[in-house]
Formats: sequence, C-alpha cells, structure tokens
Amino acid sequence: MTLNVRLYGLVTALAASLLFITGAHAGAPQLKTQAPGFYRVMLGDVEVTVLSDGTFPMDASKILTNITPKQLDTDLGRSFLKEPVEMSVNAFLINTASKLVLIDTGCGSLMGPSVGKLLSNLKASGYRPDQIDEIYITHMHGDHVGGLSADGKPAFPNAIVRAAQQEADFWLSKAHMDAAPKDAKDSYQSAMNMLNPYVSAGKFKPFSGDIELVPGIRAVPSPGHTAGHTLYVVESKGQKLVLWGDLMHVAAAQFADPSVTIHFDTDSAMAAMQRKKVFADAAEHGNWVGGAHLSFPGIGHLRAAGTGYSYTPANYSALQ
Ligand SMILES: [Zn+2]
Repeated sequence: MTLNVRLYGLVTALAASLLFITGAHAGAPQLKTQAPGFYRVMLGDVEVTVLSDGTFPMDASKILTNITPKQLDTDLGRSFLKEPVEMSVNAFLINTASKLVLIDTGCGSLMGPSVGKLLSNLKASGYRPDQIDEIYITHMHGDHVGGLSADGKPAFPNAIVRAAQQEADFWLSKAHMDAAPKDAKDSYQSAMNMLNPYVSAGKFKPFSGDIELVPGIRAVPSPGHTAGHTLYVVESKGQKLVLWGDLMHVAAAQFADPSVTIHFDTDSAMAAMQRKKVFADAAEHGNWVGGAHLSFPGIGHLRAAGTGYSYTPANYSALQ
C-alpha cells in the first residue's frame, strides 16, 4: 500500500465519520424572522432613522397605469422580481437635536398583519412614541396616516401633526366623502379616524405652500398623487435629503420611465410631471432621496441613465 493510498483511506474514513457526527444531530430550527426594521444615518448634524412599517404584496400589473404588460414584465425581470411585488412601507424619524420629527406613520391596523410595525421598530430604534414632538404627513392615504391613532386616541400623545391645508380640505371633508364613489368612502373615513383625535385636541396644524416647519426641515408642495401631496426636505451642513412620500411606488418600472403612473393618483398627469421634475433635480444635484415605498431602508441617490434614471441604495454605514 503506497502512502497516497493509505492517506486517501484515512481522509475517506474521516469524512465518513464527520458525516455521521453531523447527521446524528438535528439541525438548529430556522428562525425565519428579520432584523429589527430601523436604519440610521447622519445627515450633517441631523440624525435620520428610517423606520420600517413592514411590507405588503402588491400586483404591479393591477395598479400601474401608462405601461404595457410586456414592458412591466421586462422591468420586473431586470430587477429579479416577480408578481406580486413585495412593497416596503417606510417612515422617517428626524432628530434635529432640538426637535424629534416623524414623517408619516405607516399603516397602523388598516392594512393587515404584514404592516403596522412602526411602533415596535420605533422602540427597537431606541425612541418612545411620547418623545415625538411633531409629525409631518406627506399625504392622507391609509399607509401614511394609519399609525397616527389607535382606538380613537393619538398614538403619539405629545405630538403636533402637520400636513398641507389642501390635503386636509380634501380628506377631512364630510361633503367630499358623501360625494365620493362608494368604494372610495373608506379612504376618507380612515383619514378622519386617524386625524380627528389630533384635530379635536387642537394638535393638528395645517400649513400652506413652501414653508420651513422647523429649522432644517422644509415642506415643498408636490400635488398630483393627492391634492396636497408634500415632499419634506431635510438639510444640514450642506447635505440634503428629499423625502418623497408617494412620488413613486414601483422602483423597477418608474426609475426607467417616470411617466409610468399608478391607479391611486388623484391626478396622474400632474403626478408624472412632479416625478419627472423631482427625479431630474435629484440626479442633477446628487442629493439624498428617501421614498415611502422604496425597498427598505429606502434611501439612496439617483443618476440619469438613458431616458430614465438609475437608483443606488445607501452604502451601509456602521455609524461608529
Ligand atoms: Zn403610499
């Protein structure tokens, strides 16, 4: 027997005993849970914490408009996605050092158990609901205002809530609700249920136009998706983050072609125009962008690419 053959025999025996040993133990159970849904970055002196409210499955082909089924298939395939698309719901917690501001509040209990996780992720991120000074609402759809109240009481007991006057006029009007088609009435009722606890406590303060709400955070009107849809611009030490709300929904289709619209738009043509303007501005200036429905943590940069844009998600930061 040569040395090589003896060595081969030894290795084979060792491998067999190793297989026996590992096979003899049951594998550890799979946990199938995700890391807590918060992600933090510094923007100059301002601390930004993205909070995940969860995700929900969405059939892009049923809700996108101004796109052919073939093009949508191509877009989803290019992003390694299939229907239904798993859509993130993100909110943004901004600590300017003098104010703690939450931008949007997720779905609360309005849209099922895969979302409504904002409060648990807020706590996981190290903050409590009673610490929040102000809440800014991009628009009053249920996946943005659903976390404001629970059981008719404010979920954020010390917060002032702010949103565009046009948005309040549209969604908090009983006359509008009464005149709306039957299947649209729920959206009005949900907005009222969420906002009214703050309205009756004198803690809802609507604003108009382009306005600085606290030093470092500005509201910029962006009507189209809804009548009073608003972007919030956070700035510190020359750095800028533009929070988009629902400026876009399906990254795989709308970065390549910003003219792709969505069924929920109040005014699709105006929404597309706003998207084109804001995308072009982000690509030109290289500022940070943050989307309510961009894949969590939903912050990154845009670059012009062909007739559309390419999106680069944030590089991971350990914040050390
Ligand atoms: Zn939304």
